[in-house]
Amino acid sequence: SNYHFAARGPKPCSMTNAPIQSVLLALALQNARGGSVVSSSSGIRAEAREPELGEGEYVRAPPPSDFCALDISADVVHGEETVLGSKAERDLICAEALAWAACNGLLMRAPLEDAGGAGNHAFTHAPFALTPADFPESELWRANSLAPLFNKLVERVASDFGWLQLTLRDTASADPFTRRLLRLCAKVEAEGATQRAQLAVLRSDYMLHEPLHEPQSGHADAAGSGSDALGRALLLQVELNTIAASFASLSCKVSELHRTLAQRHPSFRALLWRHCRQPGSSAVKSSAATSVESSSMRLDEALPPNGALAGIAEAIAQAHRAHGATGAAVLFVVQASERNAVDQQLLIEELWRGHGVPVVCRTLAQIDDQARLEGPKRRLLLRGTQISVVYYRAGYTPDDYPTNQQWNAREKMERSYAIKCPSLSYHLAGAKKVQQALALPGALERFVSDAEAAQLRQVFAGLWSLSGRDEPPPAADDEERAAAAAMDAARLRPAGFVMKPQREGGGHNLFGEELRGALASMSRSQRSAFILMQRIFPRASPALLVRDGELLSGAAVSELGVYSTFLRTPSGRVALSKVCGHLVRTKLLGVDEGGVAAGFAVLNSPLASKLDAKPSTHVEAGR
Ligand code: ADP
Ligand code: MG
Repeated sequence: SNYHFAARGPKPCSMTNAPIQSVLLALALQNARGGSVVSSSSGIRAEAREPELGEGEYVRAPPPSDFCALDISADVVHGEETVLGSKAERDLICAEALAWAACNGLLMRAPLEDAGGAGNHAFTHAPFALTPADFPESELWRANSLAPLFNKLVERVASDFGWLQLTLRDTASADPFTRRLLRLCAKVEAEGATQRAQLAVLRSDYMLHEPLHEPQSGHADAAGSGSDALGRALLLQVELNTIAASFASLSCKVSELHRTLAQRHPSFRALLWRHCRQPGSSAVKSSAATSVESSSMRLDEALPPNGALAGIAEAIAQAHRAHGATGAAVLFVVQASERNAVDQQLLIEELWRGHGVPVVCRTLAQIDDQARLEGPKRRLLLRGTQISVVYYRAGYTPDDYPTNQQWNAREKMERSYAIKCPSLSYHLAGAKKVQQALALPGALERFVSDAEAAQLRQVFAGLWSLSGRDEPPPAADDEERAAAAAMDAARLRPAGFVMKPQREGGGHNLFGEELRGALASMSRSQRSAFILMQRIFPRASPALLVRDGELLSGAAVSELGVYSTFLRTPSGRVALSKVCGHLVRTKLLGVDEGGVAAGFAVLNSPLASKLDAKPSTHVEAGR
């Protein structure tokens, strides 16, 4: 099942998977035949006209451009199956998807142990879901509409260094990494910045909480949030990423893959239809006299277009221009052994092809060696080339700072005139401790209007500090008493909670018995490095996941991420604040953590469902 192909190395192409090759061949043949295969099997109206060909004449089929109004009347399969076609059909679509992944860069570096002699040059497909995950359209809309508000909130939090310092005080004493970031931030603040511009690429992550899926025993003791009066699922924020939010490029590829598969396969469209049809249009199931209107689906509504890659490239390019230096380049700060390299490379390509912006990639250690600051403005020069924007895809974990060299590099960049994405204060504003502090009553109102605060609070899960006393005296403030009650509840029923340290990148959170053990054994100051969070229990749905070339099926839960960009120019003007795209990660039930790079989840895309977000009852999630 290993599915690698190497750009260089002893085996120039080790893609030996026969089914994949035959699909590639079929695709090539199809193109050569002028698309007639496509039009006869896809049922897409735009392609119904077959060109009249003279003998030996070659006519390229027009690319299928308008799939907005897909006529699916011929496709709709009766019944309510939630799976895609027959087993044979699924295998075929899977092989086609793998070939598509290879041709379109839905790829990651192969793990070194699988790469043979190809080392860093062996690639494998990124793990992906074969079919999209349905989300109620209303909740997708809500997540998108909150993005500019989170942009505003993060900017205001990041520019209130006094508040950040106070909020992170206990955490910094318990956690050396937070302490060092905070200390560096204080130093740079004291010196005074030469660059006022701020560039942010944020990703706010959500899950749909369905209280019915929560294991028994009084979840109401927790935040009490998570469902509306009708018991419908509601969107809750998992976290807000302010540094190195990844997968924008690959998530666009997965969106494209799902659109392509929908265009090409009637069974795929039938699946989409069953999941997202409008309530009034179910007549399609029952009669041959079905009108086209009632059975057509706008594909761009069912599978919302994903502009994450283009939007992030646009933001970086705008910042590059706003910086203004001629002959400058953007610096990507990367990890030496990054597996998610294609996700970054696609952004580099987009910057170059779409905007003429050159990018150089360096690790923190290389930056310490090769970069210096010049002049009173502290311009950042990397071997003579001025750097306009520093875009971090590393530096978010203590593992990236094995020695002082890496910290020197961070300090050099932070003090420089280059625009940082993110600056240290933005990085700190994404701390989990900050997320928890913002959930305290009245905290949001310091930064945004009452109405905006109310909107944001709708998606906050229950969050509690762990730095308070176990048994606060009656005179203690409400917050400390609420936190003590939540700790008690977590000891009794750890399955309803998550304990999170100030770390990014997945794999650090404590769930279940581990959480109970940590609460029992840690001192008050040790546990200050963590926060406590209500566990979100999303609905589980059947999913088809593709990993290492193999198709797995099972009940799975999904997490939605929404990307947004923000740019304040050197002159202080807000030039950009917008939502630009999305990411869905899907993991099999029973997996606690959610990272794709960390190996827990696969990439997916959202299917905007018009069906009511009513809770389902048949599968218990989150155990
Ligand atoms: P990281 O910064 O490491 O990505 P997250 O807060 O995103 O940390 O947590 C990692 C994963 O753990 C998430 O992707 C999600 O799958 C799971 N998770 C985190 N918080 C919760 C929660 N409150 N309820 C359920 N699952 C959670
Ligand atoms: Mg996360």
